Amino acid sequence: MKYDVAVIGGGPAGMIAAGRAGEIGSHVVLIEKNKDLGTKLLIAGKGRCNITNKVDGLKEIINRFGKNGKFLFSPFSKFGVKKTIDFFENYNLKTKVERGGRVFPVSNKSQDVLNVLINYLEKTDVELRTNSKVKKIIKKGDRIEKIVLANHKEIMADNYIICTGGKSYPVTGSTGDGYRWAEKIGHTVTNLSPSLVPIIIKEGYVRELEGLSLKNVEISIYKGDKKINSRFGEAIFTANGMSGPIILDMSKEIGQELPGEIKMQIDFKPALDFVKLDKRIQRDFQKSPNKLFRNSLDELLPQKLIPIIIKLSKIDPSKKVNSITKEERRKLLHLLKEFSFRIEGLEGFKKAIITTGGINLNEIDQKTMKSKLIDNLYFAGEILDLDGPTGGYNLQVCWTTGYIAGENAGQVNSK
Ligand SMILES: Cc1cc2nc3c(=O)[nH]c(=O)nc-3n(C[C@H](O)[C@H](O)[C@H](O)COP(=O)(O)OP(=O)(O)OC[C@H]3O[C@@H](n4cnc5c(N)ncnc54)[C@H](O)[C@@H]3O)c2cc1C
Repeated sequence: MKYDVAVIGGGPAGMIAAGRAGEIGSHVVLIEKNKDLGTKLLIAGKGRCNITNKVDGLKEIINRFGKNGKFLFSPFSKFGVKKTIDFFENYNLKTKVERGGRVFPVSNKSQDVLNVLINYLEKTDVELRTNSKVKKIIKKGDRIEKIVLANHKEIMADNYIICTGGKSYPVTGSTGDGYRWAEKIGHTVTNLSPSLVPIIIKEGYVRELEGLSLKNVEISIYKGDKKINSRFGEAIFTANGMSGPIILDMSKEIGQELPGEIKMQIDFKPALDFVKLDKRIQRDFQKSPNKLFRNSLDELLPQKLIPIIIKLSKIDPSKKVNSITKEERRKLLHLLKEFSFRIEGLEGFKKAIITTGGINLNEIDQKTMKSKLIDNLYFAGEILDLDGPTGGYNLQVCWTTGYIAGENAGQVNSK
């Protein structure tokens, strides 16, 4: 049997593409190698799924994608942030906007986002083939003729949409298969590298901080004495380094400076300058002059951090705070405002949120997501050479390009 549309990859891009093609009347099959759909979507936003970002204006959102962002002007004007939110709300998913315009389901459950998409696929009669790994794609002339599965079964369709994602977090199924097929059939794949990725820190004592999450801190990155970037917000210590929004968003720039001596500085108290913080510490010390130094930082710092700060300050932990010298206080201040680590490197694809690079956008028609080289082939989602910062931008690319690919691949052969 021949389908109108075959979609490869049951992630966010593939699900919305298949659903949209089905919605406009096409007979669609969605092929996914995992036993379930949306494996990566379920872990998105730490299981809360940051589905998009309500930034003001089209230009603003486009700017978030760097030099390739201009590709998104037309797609975002067709199916942008508002239409995305309307789509989910029409399926009874209530959404909320958090700091920085981040949009989440009110339930804080990515499973609810996935349920909307599964519901959409059911309503639009999309045939699901899970546990079905696509092994190769056969091209004949300037068209795709068929798909061959790992079990040697073949699937034929009039149009094909490849939504196999990037190479990041391969445990979720995104192993870069689509890039390999695309290159074989004549497309160019730009340089692939892991992006939005945790950093590895040289200092071994970072292990003692694993799991400590920091809020309202300022982190700056230096190469020698030159400040490369600085961000205010949230971060978290991992087993061998740091992750969290501000680290992930700076990882691309850090990667560009590596290898090299890169230093990271954390300001745990960015709201207070050195003088104000010193006054605050002196006030605390004067309130309880006989307190031991080791018991004096509870109101200033998270518990996990205190033993390390005490150790690095080289101040005797059993010293009474009223006998701490000005010089010792200066060392303490320095640790609170300029806590320094050396960066060893970046984690690889295994722990990256997104892949930078992908199918060359010059080879894709931005109005339809259709390949300019192969007549019945479309691409959508992370496989494209598009990557944004954290904040819901990357899923928005999936919703937008997936919807448009589905609409166009489905229209050509809609009944
Ligand atoms: C930990 C983590 C958290 C994230 N959080 C957010 C967030 O909150 N907000 C945000 O905007 N973005 C987030 N992202 C990024 C976002 O999840 C991805 O950009 C998005 O999932 C890409 O969707 P996709 O449909 O293009 O590809 P994927 O989600 O990677 O889906 C591709 C699918 O194709 C299937 N496939 C691959 N090869 C084959 C084959 N040969 N045969 C059959 N099927 C195949 C895979 O199994 C997979 O299910 C996060 C990413 C990670 C790793």
